[in-house]
Amino acid sequence: MNQPAPRTPDAELSQFRVKGEIPVPALINGLTCAAVPLLVFFAWRSSGHGDPLTSRLLLAFAALLAINAIVFLSLGHKTLQRRTFITLIIALFTYLAIQAVEDGSAIIWLFAYPPIIFYISEARVGILAGVGGWLAVLFLFSPLGDMVFDSPYSTSFRLSMIIVLAFEMATCYILDQSRRRSKLGLIRLAAEFEYAAKHDALTSLANRREGLEQLETEYQRYLRNGRSFSVLLMDIDLFKNVNDSYGHQAGDDMIVLVARTLTDQSRKVDTIARWGGEEFLVLLPETALTEAAATAERIRSAVASQAIDCAGKRVTATISIGVACIQGSESIDRLLQRADEALYQAKTLGRNRVCQATEALHQP
Ligand code: GH3
Ligand code: MG
Ligand code: MG
Repeated sequence: MNQPAPRTPDAELSQFRVKGEIPVPALINGLTCAAVPLLVFFAWRSSGHGDPLTSRLLLAFAALLAINAIVFLSLGHKTLQRRTFITLIIALFTYLAIQAVEDGSAIIWLFAYPPIIFYISEARVGILAGVGGWLAVLFLFSPLGDMVFDSPYSTSFRLSMIIVLAFEMATCYILDQSRRRSKLGLIRLAAEFEYAAKHDALTSLANRREGLEQLETEYQRYLRNGRSFSVLLMDIDLFKNVNDSYGHQAGDDMIVLVARTLTDQSRKVDTIARWGGEEFLVLLPETALTEAAATAERIRSAVASQAIDCAGKRVTATISIGVACIQGSESIDRLLQRADEALYQAKTLGRNRVCQATEALHQP
């Protein structure tokens, strides 16, 4: 029951969607739906103003954006959709800035660029695309840009545009970072809650609920492929004496020691659950009765050889184990009942021993 390996923040963010958050592909499709009629409208105005080249280019952008949306809807390739959209809007905004469309007023559409780019990109890409876009505007509005294209913008307009765009870029960056941090916080909090709901606080083993869930999963697998699994139900012997003689803390230390020994003696595929106070359940997937009994014996002897330190005194404990292997079409409850009966037998026979369950009565 290992915790999942840590991911990068960007991978974590893209993996989960917080309730109410608009998914990036949906936002891109929504923006496309808004952009296509707008582009058609401005294309129509440009043709009316005797600018057929702009008219055709705006229609081409509208068509390409629409194609991008259709390709995404048929293939579902998110990265392709996002990259194509970013490329298209960068090309569109560059054209609007250079060609002074709509008497030069179209350049103010550049203000739509920063919030879109930060929302739809990963953090690093957003910064690169944002700063890159701003540097491109800076270049176009500089004397060097004047050599490349015929700029109709006044010096004061250029200055305002560069400063306000930088201001907007910084604001969008701060808001986006805050949004990402909040989302990451929520995701990690949810993961902590999920972990706490499935694990026991003292031993970090799976708790009874998680143990039952894993049992159910293994049971379903057994019903599908017929590969038997086994359970070991175990209980610390005369544990009350440890509490009574050395205190509750010593009892807790003993439970932790047994839990650690169980983890050391089990395979990665096994589920170890704290079943109750000083009871544990080990689920052994694809394991027959004899193999499970051998594992139980190994665990029993490993626990017996361990000790906790109580004010310089070595305190040992033993465990009794009931072993049962799933048979025929018996239920999980019946399997656990047989394991419990075997555990009870181990107790009555003198404790510190392993007992195998009797056969299930009803075979199919
Ligand atoms: P047996 O060999 O028959 O199992 O004897 P036992 O003394 O272990 O059995 P019993 O069920 O009478 O005692 C279990 C004790 O475990 C009682 C309870 O106070 C103690 N216990 C249960 N959970 C915890 C825990 O989390 N920490 C500590 N320290 N003690 C616990
Ligand atoms: Mg008990
Ligand atoms: Mg006990």
